[in-house]
Amino acid sequence: MKTSRIPGFYKKSVSERREVLKDLHSFTEEEAAALYAEAPLTGATADNMIENVIGTHPLPLGLGLNFQINGKDYIIPMAIEEASVVASASHIAKIVRNAGGFTAESTDRVMIGQIQVVGAPDLQKAKSTLLEARDQLIQGANDAYPSIVARGGGAEDLEVRILNESSESKYGQMLVLHLYINTCDAMGANIINTMVESIAPVVEDLTKGKVYLRILSNYADKSLASARCVIPPELLETGSYSGEEVRDGVVHAYEFAAMDPYRAVTHNKGIMNGIDPVVIATGNDWRAVEAGAHAYAARDGHYGSMTKWYADEEGNLVGELELPMSVGIVGGATRIHPMAKLSLGMMHIESARELAQVIVSVGLAQNLGALKALVTDGIQKGHMALHSRSVAIAAGASGEMIDVIAEQLIEEKEIRVGKAKELVEQHKK
Ligand code: NDP
Repeated sequence: MKTSRIPGFYKKSVSERREVLKDLHSFTEEEAAALYAEAPLTGATADNMIENVIGTHPLPLGLGLNFQINGKDYIIPMAIEEASVVASASHIAKIVRNAGGFTAESTDRVMIGQIQVVGAPDLQKAKSTLLEARDQLIQGANDAYPSIVARGGGAEDLEVRILNESSESKYGQMLVLHLYINTCDAMGANIINTMVESIAPVVEDLTKGKVYLRILSNYADKSLASARCVIPPELLETGSYSGEEVRDGVVHAYEFAAMDPYRAVTHNKGIMNGIDPVVIATGNDWRAVEAGAHAYAARDGHYGSMTKWYADEEGNLVGELELPMSVGIVGGATRIHPMAKLSLGMMHIESARELAQVIVSVGLAQNLGALKALVTDGIQKGHMALHSRSVAIAAGASGEMIDVIAEQLIEEKEIRVGKAKELVEQHKK
């Protein structure tokens, strides 16, 4: 990757953008074919992925530009239907780039498999028996999936929890075994599920209880990724607001989200606006990432902001985001969906940990994009201008008429379908 700065990219046509991208990358023939295909995911492949297939459901794929993370440039594919997300991410990435770029980190990819045991006659005894059998259980799990061990991963540790030990709640008592598994570059759901299912009979035998659930936890809090940016206020200045005003507004907006779940949900939705499109573009399981992220935002027993924004001693705006990030660069749809292969190739991603770092960086950028707009002009100005094309199409405009109607809607400051329909009718006459 040479650079993620491509000035004027947004002004080009779709085919010009494809050519620019092709020039920047040494795409394989297969990747180039996917880039130019109108329907890269064929019905035949789709039919092998899920049940009762009747077609495919494409989303626009745009590029988040200007990203620099740990000194490396990334052109980031984002699959999303919502206008203004890609533009906003690219805008903030440019600001952060001028401030030295994002720094990002991630833990080892340790995922959790859970085994639920009910009806053990003595919970404490069952717990200590399982802990004493630690090595046997880990070995059993690894024997069920030797290839991940050969890759340097596999089951590494376990923990046993007793839920509702003092029998105080309306729910039953139970024992839960957590198996910690390094899934290397895979998200790992199938690896984990195979392992926990394989040792369940031994767990039953050891605890004298009955095993019910044997499945991964999507609360992947041992597979974390974090991103950080430090922005001098002068880079935040806009036409009518000083950089300090923008910085202070962002910090106040963060504090609002940190305290208030009504605000936090919307604040965090804005973060997921950046995260989901990359997770989807790379063929990863966005439901798993969403579920884990929101649970992590409530880890203190209170649902709050996923990000943190504050001013440091030099007056810079500092942003931080840490989330569980159970994504892979192998497995699932990552190597089946042609656009996922293309997306991963485009970013020159070498490991699942690196992908996780990129994804949280986009989430952090997206959050600042939304907050910066909210504390200055308000979200509608930029959003509705970009949304105007979709409104024009929804009102029946096609071809060249789309831009004409969209511009008229912006000019008349009335970006709604009803107004667009009137304009379309006038144009048809
Ligand atoms: P796969 O089942 O496709 O497994 C990934 C496989 O890739 C590994 O088992 C390994 O097999 C191979 N592989 C090749 N190179 C590597 C490498 N460097 N690191 C690790 N593995 C490598 O995918 P996952 O187990 O990741 O499962 C993900 C899928 O499971 C997603 O589609 C998800 O939607 C789905 N799922 C999610 C659930 C949930 O979130 N609750 C539940 C069930 C399924 P080998 O070593 O043999 O080559």
